[in-house]
Amino acid sequence: MFNLNNSYQYKLNSMPRGKDYVGQITNNCEAPLRSLTIDLESNCFLCSCDGWLPIPIGKVQDFNSFNDVFSSPNARIIQKDIQDKKFTWCAVDHCGIKSQDIRYMRYEIAINIDESCNLKCPSCRRESIMHTQGSEFERKLKDINTIISWLQNFNESIHIVLTGNGDPLASHIIRPLIKNYQPKDNQVFTFVTNGLLIKKHLAESPIFSQIKNYRISVDAGSEQSYLLTRGGSWKVLLENFEFLNQHNKQELVTLNFCVQKNNYQDIPKFIELCRKYKFYGHIHHLDDWGTWPDAMPTNPDVWTIKNGSFNEHNVLYNLHPQYKDCRQIVNTEIKKLNDNRILFGNRLKELLSL
Ligand code: SF4
Ligand code: SF4
Repeated sequence: MFNLNNSYQYKLNSMPRGKDYVGQITNNCEAPLRSLTIDLESNCFLCSCDGWLPIPIGKVQDFNSFNDVFSSPNARIIQKDIQDKKFTWCAVDHCGIKSQDIRYMRYEIAINIDESCNLKCPSCRRESIMHTQGSEFERKLKDINTIISWLQNFNESIHIVLTGNGDPLASHIIRPLIKNYQPKDNQVFTFVTNGLLIKKHLAESPIFSQIKNYRISVDAGSEQSYLLTRGGSWKVLLENFEFLNQHNKQELVTLNFCVQKNNYQDIPKFIELCRKYKFYGHIHHLDDWGTWPDAMPTNPDVWTIKNGSFNEHNVLYNLHPQYKDCRQIVNTEIKKLNDNRILFGNRLKELLSL
C-alpha cells in the first residue's frame, strides 16, 4: 500500500508490528489525528515517534496547513487502520498501545528537520554538523518557514517539540522560529537541548515565555566528565543554569544523565547539581546510536582508537569490568534518595538488576 524506500523499510522491519501480533488490541490511539513528527528529510509521520510508525505520509511542501496534513489521503489510510484497531504498521510492543489508550490533550508537532549542533558528543556523531548554506540548507529553511505559516494559521492548542536530532538553539534553520515567530497563547514549546545557548538565543526571543519544558542533556556532574561525554564548556553550562534560575524556570527544567563508563562515578555529583539548581533529574541507560562500533574492530580508524567502542562505554553490560562498581553507586543513590525530582530509568534499573 505504501511504497517505502530502503531506510523506512529497514525501520519498519526493525521492530515487531501490529500486523504480526496474534492477540487483539482494544485500546484507542489518537496519535494519527493529533501528532505529527517531521524528520531530517522533511517527511511527515502521524505519531510522536517516526520509528514507531515509520510511514511517511508526504513532505512538508506537500501541505499548506495542519488540516491538510491530517486530512491527506495517506493520513486517512493510517487513521482508518488505527481506528479499526489493526495497527498494521505500528510498533505495538514499544509504543504502549497494548497497555493503555494513547490520548493527546492538544495537537503536537516534533520538528526534527536539522541535525546541526554546536557539540559533537562521541555517543552521537563523529564529525561536527552545522548547516549554514547550500541547497539542503535552503530546502530546510523553506520547510521551517512553511511550518511557521502552518502555526500562524492554526487556532487549536498545540505543543511544539524542538528537536530530536540536533540542538535547536545551534540550528540556523530553526532560528527563524526562535527569533521571529510570535506564538499564540495556546502554542507551547519543549526544547531538547544541550543548554549551552539558552541565554544567548532565548533571552530576547518572543517564544521564551511559551517554553514550558527544557530537557537538557548533561551526562556529567563535574567539568572533568563533561569534557569527556560532551566536550562543551562546563562554565557556560552553569551560566545557562543561572540564567534559567534568574527567570524562575526551575520547575520547567529536567537535566538528563545517560550512564556510561566516563560518567557513572559522577552520579552523586549530578544529583547534587540538580538539587543545587532545583531542577528535575533523569538518570537513564545508554542507547546505542551506532556512532561507536559495537566492539573494537581489528583495524580501528583514528576516531575509534580515540573514542573506543560501545561495549567499552556500556558499563551497564553485566560483563563490563566496571559493572559492579556502577551497580553499587546507583544502588546506594537509589536507597538514600528522598527526592521525587530525581528519577532513575526503569531500563537502567533492569540492566543493573535493581
Ligand atoms: S498505536 Fe503506537 S505506533 Fe501507532 S500511532 Fe499510536 S502511538 Fe504511534
Ligand atoms: S548535544 Fe545532543 S545533538 Fe549535539 S552532538 Fe551531543 S548528543 Fe548530539
